[in-house]
Amino acid sequence: MIYKRSSELFAAAQKVIPGGVNSPVRAFKAVGGDPIFVKKAEGAYLFDEDGNKLIDYINSWGPLILGHAHKPVVDAVVEKAQSGTSFGTPTEIETKIAELAVKMVPNIDKIRFVNSGTEATMSAVRLARGFTGKEKIIKFAGCYHGHSDSFLIQAGSGAVTFGTPNSPGVTQGTAKDTLLANYNDLENVKEVIEANRDEIACLIIEPVPGNMGCIPPKDGFLEGLRDLCDANDILLIFDEVMSGFRLAPGGVQERLGVKADILCFGKVIGGGLPVGAFAARNEIMDYLAPVGPVYQAGTLSGNPLAMAAGLAMLNELDQNREIFQSIDKKTEYLHEGIEKVLKNNKVPHTINRVGSMISVHFGKEPVTDFDSAARSANLGVFNKFFHGMLENGIYIAPSAYETWFISEALSYEDLDKTIETVAKVTKEF
Ligand SMILES: *Cc1c(COP(=O)(O)O)cnc(C)c1O
Repeated sequence: MIYKRSSELFAAAQKVIPGGVNSPVRAFKAVGGDPIFVKKAEGAYLFDEDGNKLIDYINSWGPLILGHAHKPVVDAVVEKAQSGTSFGTPTEIETKIAELAVKMVPNIDKIRFVNSGTEATMSAVRLARGFTGKEKIIKFAGCYHGHSDSFLIQAGSGAVTFGTPNSPGVTQGTAKDTLLANYNDLENVKEVIEANRDEIACLIIEPVPGNMGCIPPKDGFLEGLRDLCDANDILLIFDEVMSGFRLAPGGVQERLGVKADILCFGKVIGGGLPVGAFAARNEIMDYLAPVGPVYQAGTLSGNPLAMAAGLAMLNELDQNREIFQSIDKKTEYLHEGIEKVLKNNKVPHTINRVGSMISVHFGKEPVTDFDSAARSANLGVFNKFFHGMLENGIYIAPSAYETWFISEALSYEDLDKTIETVAKVTKEF
Protein backbone atom coordinates (compact mmCIF):
# COMPACT_ATOMS: atom_id res chain seq x y z
CA MET A 1 0.00 0.00 0.00
CA ILE A 2 1.04 3.57 -0.60
CA TYR A 3 1.11 6.06 2.24
CA LYS A 4 2.64 9.05 0.50
CA ARG A 5 0.12 11.70 1.41
CA SER A 6 -0.20 10.45 5.01
CA SER A 7 3.58 10.77 5.38
CA GLU A 8 3.55 14.30 3.97
CA LEU A 9 0.74 15.33 6.27
CA PHE A 10 2.57 13.79 9.23
CA ALA A 11 5.71 15.78 8.40
CA ALA A 12 3.67 19.00 8.32
CA ALA A 13 1.88 18.13 11.57
CA GLN A 14 5.13 17.47 13.41
CA LYS A 15 6.23 21.06 12.82
CA VAL A 16 3.31 22.55 14.74
CA ILE A 17 1.97 19.76 16.99
CA PRO A 18 4.25 17.85 19.42
CA GLY A 19 4.99 14.56 17.69
CA GLY A 20 2.37 15.47 15.09
CA VAL A 21 -0.47 14.09 17.22
CA ASN A 22 -2.89 15.22 19.91
CA SER A 23 -2.73 11.90 21.76
CA PRO A 24 0.55 9.93 21.89
CA VAL A 25 -0.50 6.41 20.86
CA ARG A 26 -1.70 7.70 17.49
CA ALA A 27 1.91 8.39 16.50
CA PHE A 28 2.87 4.70 15.83
CA LYS A 29 5.95 5.26 17.98
CA ALA A 30 5.74 1.77 19.51
CA VAL A 31 5.46 0.02 16.15
CA GLY A 32 7.52 2.33 13.94
CA GLY A 33 6.52 4.00 10.69
CA ASP A 34 4.25 6.97 10.00
CA PRO A 35 0.63 7.07 11.16
CA ILE A 36 -2.26 6.90 8.71
CA PHE A 37 -4.14 10.16 8.21
CA VAL A 38 -7.82 9.38 7.83
CA LYS A 39 -9.99 11.32 5.44
CA LYS A 40 -13.35 9.73 6.10
CA ALA A 41 -14.98 6.61 7.45
CA GLU A 42 -18.16 4.66 7.02
CA GLY A 43 -19.44 1.60 8.88
CA ALA A 44 -16.54 -0.80 9.44
CA TYR A 45 -14.12 1.00 7.12
CA LEU A 46 -11.62 3.83 7.19
CA PHE A 47 -10.54 5.63 4.04
CA ASP A 48 -7.15 7.30 4.36
CA GLU A 49 -5.68 10.31 2.57
CA ASP A 50 -3.98 8.05 0.00
CA GLY A 51 -7.25 6.36 -0.91
CA ASN A 52 -6.58 3.09 0.96
CA LYS A 53 -9.59 1.30 2.46
CA LEU A 54 -8.99 -0.32 5.85
CA ILE A 55 -11.13 -2.59 8.04
CA ASP A 56 -11.15 -0.73 11.34
CA TYR A 57 -10.56 -2.49 14.67
CA ILE A 58 -9.94 0.72 16.61
CA ASN A 59 -13.19 2.58 16.07
CA SER A 60 -11.89 5.76 17.63
CA TRP A 61 -10.52 3.66 20.54
CA GLY A 62 -13.92 2.36 21.54
CA PRO A 63 -16.75 4.88 21.16
CA LEU A 64 -18.01 3.73 17.75
CA ILE A 65 -19.56 0.44 18.80
CA LEU A 66 -22.03 0.72 15.90
CA GLY A 67 -19.37 1.69 13.36
CA HIS A 68 -18.45 4.98 11.70
CA ALA A 69 -20.88 7.68 10.62
CA HIS A 70 -23.81 5.74 12.07
CA LYS A 71 -26.79 7.51 10.55
CA PRO A 72 -29.01 8.12 13.63
CA VAL A 73 -26.02 9.62 15.46
CA VAL A 74 -24.91 11.82 12.56
CA ASP A 75 -28.47 13.00 11.90
CA ALA A 76 -28.98 13.92 15.56
CA VAL A 77 -25.79 16.02 15.61
CA VAL A 78 -26.49 17.77 12.32
CA GLU A 79 -30.02 18.62 13.37
CA LYS A 80 -28.90 19.93 16.77
CA ALA A 81 -26.15 22.09 15.27
CA GLN A 82 -28.71 24.06 13.26
CA SER A 83 -30.14 25.41 16.53
CA GLY A 84 -26.86 26.58 18.00
CA THR A 85 -23.82 24.73 19.32
CA SER A 86 -23.55 25.78 22.96
CA PHE A 87 -25.53 27.94 25.39
CA GLY A 88 -24.02 27.50 28.84
CA THR A 89 -27.52 27.07 30.21
CA PRO A 90 -29.42 23.92 31.13
CA THR A 91 -31.04 22.17 28.14
CA GLU A 92 -33.73 19.50 28.01
CA ILE A 93 -31.56 16.98 26.18
CA GLU A 94 -29.22 16.72 29.19
CA THR A 95 -32.12 15.40 31.29
CA LYS A 96 -33.16 13.04 28.50
CA ILE A 97 -29.77 11.33 28.24
CA ALA A 98 -29.41 11.32 32.05
CA GLU A 99 -32.80 9.60 32.40
CA LEU A 100 -31.84 6.99 29.84
CA ALA A 101 -28.41 6.32 31.39
CA VAL A 102 -29.96 6.01 34.86
CA LYS A 103 -32.49 3.55 33.43
CA MET A 104 -29.84 1.43 31.67
CA VAL A 105 -27.18 1.29 34.38
CA PRO A 106 -27.95 -0.55 37.63
CA ASN A 107 -27.46 1.07 40.99
CA ILE A 108 -27.24 4.77 40.04
CA ASP A 109 -29.70 7.61 40.77
CA LYS A 110 -27.89 10.58 39.27
CA ILE A 111 -25.25 11.18 36.64
CA ARG A 112 -23.13 14.20 35.75
CA PHE A 113 -21.71 14.78 32.27
CA VAL A 114 -18.19 16.01 31.53
CA ASN A 115 -16.05 16.17 28.38
CA SER A 116 -13.78 13.11 28.61
CA GLY A 117 -13.07 9.90 30.46
CA THR A 118 -10.14 11.63 32.14
CA GLU A 119 -12.44 14.26 33.59
CA ALA A 120 -14.89 11.60 34.74
CA THR A 121 -12.32 9.60 36.75
CA MET A 122 -10.64 12.72 38.12
CA SER A 123 -13.98 14.08 39.34
CA ALA A 124 -15.10 10.71 40.70
CA VAL A 125 -12.00 10.48 42.88
CA ARG A 126 -12.47 14.03 44.18
CA LEU A 127 -16.07 13.17 45.01
CA ALA A 128 -14.99 9.98 46.80
CA ARG A 129 -12.42 11.91 48.83
CA GLY A 130 -14.94 14.60 49.70
CA PHE A 131 -17.60 12.09 50.64
CA THR A 132 -15.39 9.91 52.84
CA GLY A 133 -13.12 12.62 54.21
CA LYS A 134 -10.12 10.40 53.41
CA GLU A 135 -7.23 11.09 51.02
CA LYS A 136 -5.58 7.97 49.67
CA ILE A 137 -6.74 5.96 46.69
CA ILE A 138 -5.93 2.47 45.47
CA LYS A 139 -5.39 1.82 41.78
CA PHE A 140 -4.22 -1.31 39.98
CA ALA A 141 -1.00 -1.68 38.04
CA GLY A 142 -1.77 -1.60 34.33
CA CYS A 143 -5.23 -0.04 34.68
CA TYR A 144 -5.58 3.23 32.78
CA HIS A 145 -7.87 5.95 34.06
CA GLY A 146 -6.96 8.83 31.79
CA HIS A 147 -4.06 11.24 32.20
CA SER A 148 -4.78 13.18 35.38
CA ASP A 149 -1.87 13.26 37.85
CA SER A 150 -3.15 10.80 40.47
CA PHE A 151 -3.43 8.01 37.92
CA LEU A 152 -0.03 8.29 36.21
CA ILE A 153 1.58 6.08 38.79
CA GLN A 154 3.58 3.00 37.91
CA ALA A 155 3.88 -0.32 39.73
CA GLY A 156 6.73 -0.01 42.21
CA SER A 157 8.57 -3.07 43.48
CA GLY A 158 6.47 -3.42 46.61
CA ALA A 159 2.81 -2.67 46.06
CA VAL A 160 2.43 -1.76 49.71
CA THR A 161 4.90 1.08 49.36
CA PHE A 162 4.09 4.40 47.76
CA GLY A 163 3.90 4.54 44.00
CA THR A 164 6.40 6.46 41.95
CA PRO A 165 5.16 8.78 39.21
CA ASN A 166 5.68 7.51 35.68
CA SER A 167 5.63 10.94 34.11
CA PRO A 168 7.72 14.01 34.93
CA GLY A 169 5.42 16.73 36.16
CA VAL A 170 3.54 14.47 38.55
CA THR A 171 4.69 15.51 42.02
CA GLN A 172 5.79 13.17 44.79
CA GLY A 173 3.08 14.83 46.88
CA THR A 174 0.41 13.56 44.49
CA ALA A 175 2.06 10.19 43.97
CA LYS A 176 2.15 9.42 47.68
CA ASP A 177 -1.64 9.39 47.84
CA THR A 178 -1.97 6.75 45.11
CA LEU A 179 -1.43 3.20 46.35
CA LEU A 180 -0.84 0.40 43.88
CA ALA A 181 -2.24 -3.09 43.91
CA ASN A 182 -2.05 -6.04 41.53
CA TYR A 183 -5.06 -6.93 39.43
CA ASN A 184 -6.62 -10.35 40.22
CA ASP A 185 -4.71 -10.52 43.54
CA LEU A 186 -7.06 -10.09 46.51
CA GLU A 187 -4.35 -10.92 49.07
CA ASN A 188 -2.28 -8.05 47.75
CA VAL A 189 -5.24 -5.66 47.98
CA LYS A 190 -5.79 -6.78 51.59
CA GLU A 191 -2.15 -6.01 52.42
CA VAL A 192 -2.38 -2.54 50.89
CA ILE A 193 -5.53 -1.80 52.88
CA GLU A 194 -4.02 -3.17 56.13
CA ALA A 195 -0.94 -1.00 55.72
CA ASN A 196 -3.06 2.15 55.23
CA ARG A 197 -6.00 1.59 57.53
CA ASP A 198 -8.60 4.38 57.75
CA GLU A 199 -6.80 6.45 55.12
CA ILE A 200 -8.29 5.07 51.92
CA ALA A 201 -11.14 6.96 50.27
CA CYS A 202 -11.67 4.75 47.25
CA LEU A 203 -10.47 1.91 45.15
CA ILE A 204 -10.66 2.61 41.42
CA ILE A 205 -10.50 -0.20 38.89
CA GLU A 206 -11.25 -1.13 35.31
CA PRO A 207 -13.49 -4.04 36.34
CA VAL A 208 -12.63 -5.71 33.04
CA PRO A 209 -9.33 -4.06 32.11
CA GLY A 210 -8.82 -3.17 28.47
CA ASN A 211 -5.68 -1.08 28.71
CA MET A 212 -3.17 -3.91 29.31
CA GLY A 213 -4.89 -6.07 26.77
CA CYS A 214 -8.21 -7.48 27.88
CA ILE A 215 -7.95 -9.26 31.22
CA PRO A 216 -10.87 -11.26 32.60
CA PRO A 217 -11.35 -10.92 36.36
CA LYS A 218 -10.82 -14.21 38.19
CA ASP A 219 -13.87 -15.77 39.83
CA GLY A 220 -14.58 -13.96 43.06
CA PHE A 221 -12.05 -11.14 42.50
CA LEU A 222 -14.54 -8.30 41.99
CA GLU A 223 -16.86 -9.75 44.68
CA GLY A 224 -13.85 -9.86 47.02
CA LEU A 225 -13.07 -6.21 46.33
CA ARG A 226 -16.71 -5.32 47.07
CA ASP A 227 -16.45 -7.07 50.46
CA LEU A 228 -13.12 -5.46 51.30
CA CYS A 229 -14.50 -2.02 50.43
CA ASP A 230 -17.61 -2.58 52.56
CA ALA A 231 -15.57 -3.79 55.53
CA ASN A 232 -13.26 -0.77 55.40
CA ASP A 233 -15.57 2.12 54.41
CA ILE A 234 -13.88 2.44 51.03
CA LEU A 235 -15.88 3.51 47.98
CA LEU A 236 -15.56 1.15 45.01
CA ILE A 237 -15.22 3.02 41.70
CA PHE A 238 -15.71 1.07 38.48
CA ASP A 239 -14.03 2.90 35.63
CA GLU A 240 -16.32 1.70 32.83
CA VAL A 241 -15.08 4.22 30.28
CA MET A 242 -14.25 1.28 27.97
CA SER A 243 -16.60 -1.46 29.22
CA GLY A 244 -19.67 0.72 29.82
CA PHE A 245 -22.47 0.33 27.25
CA ARG A 246 -20.25 -2.31 25.59
CA LEU A 247 -20.21 -5.45 27.74
CA ALA A 248 -23.95 -5.05 28.52
CA PRO A 249 -26.50 -2.22 28.52
CA GLY A 250 -25.62 -1.79 32.20
CA GLY A 251 -21.90 -2.51 31.80
CA VAL A 252 -19.88 -4.81 34.07
CA GLN A 253 -22.24 -4.32 37.02
CA GLU A 254 -24.95 -5.99 34.95
CA ARG A 255 -22.79 -8.52 33.15
CA LEU A 256 -20.94 -9.83 36.20
CA GLY A 257 -23.42 -8.88 38.91
CA VAL A 258 -21.12 -6.85 41.14
CA LYS A 259 -22.17 -3.41 42.41
CA ALA A 260 -19.93 -0.38 42.47
CA ASP A 261 -20.42 2.87 44.42
CA ILE A 262 -19.34 5.27 41.67
CA LEU A 263 -19.31 4.57 37.92
CA CYS A 264 -17.25 6.38 35.29
CA PHE A 265 -18.17 6.49 31.64
CA GLY A 266 -16.75 7.84 28.39
CA LYS A 267 -16.26 6.51 24.86
CA VAL A 268 -19.58 4.83 23.85
CA ILE A 269 -21.69 7.22 25.98
CA GLY A 270 -20.63 10.08 23.68
CA GLY A 271 -21.27 8.30 20.38
CA GLY A 272 -17.97 9.67 19.03
CA LEU A 273 -18.19 13.18 20.46
CA PRO A 274 -16.20 14.29 23.52
CA VAL A 275 -18.27 13.05 26.45
CA GLY A 276 -17.54 11.53 29.83
CA ALA A 277 -19.78 11.03 32.84
CA PHE A 278 -19.76 9.84 36.42
CA ALA A 279 -22.70 8.49 38.37
CA ALA A 280 -23.69 7.11 41.76
CA ARG A 281 -26.59 6.84 44.18
CA ASN A 282 -28.21 10.04 45.54
CA GLU A 283 -26.36 10.07 48.84
CA ILE A 284 -23.02 10.34 47.02
CA MET A 285 -24.03 12.50 44.03
CA ASP A 286 -25.66 15.06 46.31
CA TYR A 287 -22.21 15.81 47.67
CA LEU A 288 -21.50 17.62 44.39
CA ALA A 289 -21.87 21.38 43.89
CA PRO A 290 -24.26 23.14 43.70
CA VAL A 291 -26.08 20.82 46.16
CA GLY A 292 -23.04 19.74 48.15
CA PRO A 293 -19.52 20.96 48.91
CA VAL A 294 -17.43 19.10 46.29
CA TYR A 295 -16.68 21.43 43.38
CA GLN A 296 -16.82 20.26 39.78
CA ALA A 297 -17.71 22.24 36.64
CA GLY A 298 -17.31 22.60 32.87
CA THR A 299 -17.96 25.35 30.30
CA LEU A 300 -18.89 22.84 27.61
CA SER A 301 -20.15 20.02 29.86
CA GLY A 302 -23.51 18.72 28.62
CA ASN A 303 -22.88 20.41 25.27
CA PRO A 304 -25.94 20.00 23.02
CA LEU A 305 -24.08 18.40 20.09
CA ALA A 306 -22.30 15.96 22.38
CA MET A 307 -25.53 15.11 24.19
CA ALA A 308 -27.36 14.63 20.88
CA ALA A 309 -24.73 12.12 19.72
CA GLY A 310 -24.71 10.34 23.08
CA LEU A 311 -28.49 10.19 23.32
CA ALA A 312 -28.84 8.83 19.78
CA MET A 313 -26.20 6.18 20.56
CA LEU A 314 -27.77 5.09 23.88
CA ASN A 315 -31.23 5.03 22.31
CA GLU A 316 -29.97 2.69 19.59
CA LEU A 317 -28.40 0.38 22.18
CA ASP A 318 -31.39 0.50 24.52
CA GLN A 319 -33.96 -0.19 21.83
CA ASN A 320 -31.95 -2.86 20.01
CA ARG A 321 -30.54 -4.87 22.88
CA GLU A 322 -29.83 -7.83 20.59
CA ILE A 323 -26.82 -5.76 19.46
CA PHE A 324 -24.98 -6.84 22.60
CA GLN A 325 -25.43 -10.56 21.82
CA SER A 326 -24.66 -10.00 18.16
CA ILE A 327 -21.38 -8.19 18.79
CA ASP A 328 -20.35 -10.80 21.39
CA LYS A 329 -20.96 -13.53 18.81
CA LYS A 330 -18.93 -11.73 16.17
CA THR A 331 -16.07 -11.36 18.62
CA GLU A 332 -16.30 -15.04 19.57
CA TYR A 333 -16.16 -15.94 15.87
CA LEU A 334 -13.05 -13.80 15.44
CA HIS A 335 -11.54 -15.34 18.58
CA GLU A 336 -12.04 -18.91 17.35
CA GLY A 337 -10.85 -18.07 13.84
CA ILE A 338 -7.64 -16.37 14.97
CA GLU A 339 -6.98 -19.08 17.57
CA LYS A 340 -7.19 -21.74 14.86
CA VAL A 341 -4.87 -20.09 12.36
CA LEU A 342 -2.27 -19.18 14.98
CA LYS A 343 -2.29 -22.81 16.15
CA ASN A 344 -1.89 -24.01 12.55
CA ASN A 345 1.03 -21.65 12.08
CA LYS A 346 2.52 -22.75 15.43
CA VAL A 347 2.69 -19.18 16.71
CA PRO A 348 2.80 -19.01 20.54
CA HIS A 349 -0.19 -16.96 21.66
CA THR A 350 -2.80 -16.26 24.31
CA ILE A 351 -6.13 -14.74 23.38
CA ASN A 352 -8.15 -13.09 26.15
CA ARG A 353 -11.78 -12.15 25.68
CA VAL A 354 -14.76 -10.88 27.64
CA GLY A 355 -17.76 -10.20 25.40
CA SER A 356 -16.67 -7.82 22.65
CA MET A 357 -13.35 -6.98 24.31
CA ILE A 358 -10.56 -9.19 22.91
CA SER A 359 -6.75 -9.10 22.87
CA VAL A 360 -4.14 -11.25 21.16
CA HIS A 361 -0.88 -11.73 23.09
CA PHE A 362 2.17 -13.31 21.47
CA GLY A 363 3.28 -15.31 24.47
CA LYS A 364 2.25 -18.69 25.84
CA GLU A 365 1.64 -17.94 29.50
CA PRO A 366 -1.79 -16.86 30.77
CA VAL A 367 -2.21 -13.07 30.86
CA THR A 368 -3.89 -12.26 34.17
CA ASP A 369 -2.32 -9.00 35.33
CA PHE A 370 0.11 -6.26 34.29
CA ASP A 371 3.28 -8.30 34.87
CA SER A 372 2.12 -11.22 32.76
CA ALA A 373 0.81 -8.81 30.09
CA ALA A 374 4.22 -7.14 29.97
CA ARG A 375 6.03 -10.50 29.74
CA SER A 376 3.75 -11.53 26.85
CA ALA A 377 3.95 -8.27 24.96
CA ASN A 378 6.72 -9.59 22.65
CA LEU A 379 7.14 -6.29 20.86
CA GLY A 380 9.24 -7.60 17.96
CA VAL A 381 6.56 -10.10 16.95
CA PHE A 382 3.73 -7.65 17.58
CA ASN A 383 5.30 -5.00 15.36
CA LYS A 384 5.68 -7.44 12.51
CA PHE A 385 2.09 -8.52 13.03
CA PHE A 386 0.78 -4.94 13.15
CA HIS A 387 2.51 -3.87 9.94
CA GLY A 388 1.58 -7.11 8.17
CA MET A 389 -2.08 -6.56 9.02
CA LEU A 390 -1.93 -2.91 7.96
CA GLU A 391 -0.26 -3.75 4.67
CA ASN A 392 -3.24 -6.05 3.99
CA GLY A 393 -5.87 -3.46 4.85
CA ILE A 394 -6.58 -4.34 8.50
CA TYR A 395 -6.18 -1.54 11.02
CA ILE A 396 -5.55 -2.71 14.60
CA ALA A 397 -4.29 -0.59 17.50
CA PRO A 398 -0.57 0.24 17.14
CA SER A 399 0.16 -1.13 20.62
CA ALA A 400 0.62 -4.60 22.07
CA TYR A 401 -1.30 -3.48 25.17
CA GLU A 402 -4.64 -2.68 23.58
CA THR A 403 -7.82 -4.62 23.15
CA TRP A 404 -9.33 -4.74 19.71
CA PHE A 405 -12.37 -2.48 19.58
CA ILE A 406 -15.04 -4.47 17.79
CA SER A 407 -17.97 -2.71 16.14
CA GLU A 408 -21.35 -4.11 15.16
CA ALA A 409 -20.72 -2.73 11.66
CA LEU A 410 -18.18 -5.53 11.00
CA SER A 411 -19.68 -8.18 8.74
CA TYR A 412 -18.80 -11.88 8.86
CA GLU A 413 -17.05 -11.29 5.53
CA ASP A 414 -14.86 -8.66 7.19
CA LEU A 415 -14.13 -11.09 10.01
CA ASP A 416 -13.24 -13.87 7.54
CA LYS A 417 -10.93 -11.53 5.67
CA THR A 418 -9.30 -10.59 8.97
CA ILE A 419 -8.79 -14.23 9.98
CA GLU A 420 -7.33 -15.08 6.55
CA THR A 421 -5.00 -12.13 6.86
CA VAL A 422 -3.82 -13.28 10.30
CA ALA A 423 -3.10 -16.68 8.75
CA LYS A 424 -1.13 -15.13 5.89
CA VAL A 425 0.80 -12.62 8.01
CA THR A 426 1.85 -15.11 10.71
CA LYS A 427 2.82 -17.91 8.32
CA GLU A 428 6.53 -17.16 8.57
CA PHE A 429 6.58 -16.16 12.26
C1 LIG B 1 -10.04 5.77 27.45
C2 LIG B 1 -10.10 5.55 28.92
C3 LIG B 1 -10.03 6.61 29.84
C4 LIG B 1 -9.73 8.02 29.42
O1 LIG B 1 -10.74 8.58 28.66
P1 LIG B 1 -10.38 9.88 27.76
O2 LIG B 1 -11.70 10.23 27.14
O3 LIG B 1 -9.34 9.44 26.80
O4 LIG B 1 -9.90 10.94 28.68
C5 LIG B 1 -10.22 6.33 31.17
N1 LIG B 1 -10.45 5.08 31.59
C6 LIG B 1 -10.50 4.03 30.74
C7 LIG B 1 -10.79 2.67 31.27
C8 LIG B 1 -10.31 4.22 29.38
O5 LIG B 1 -10.33 3.17 28.56
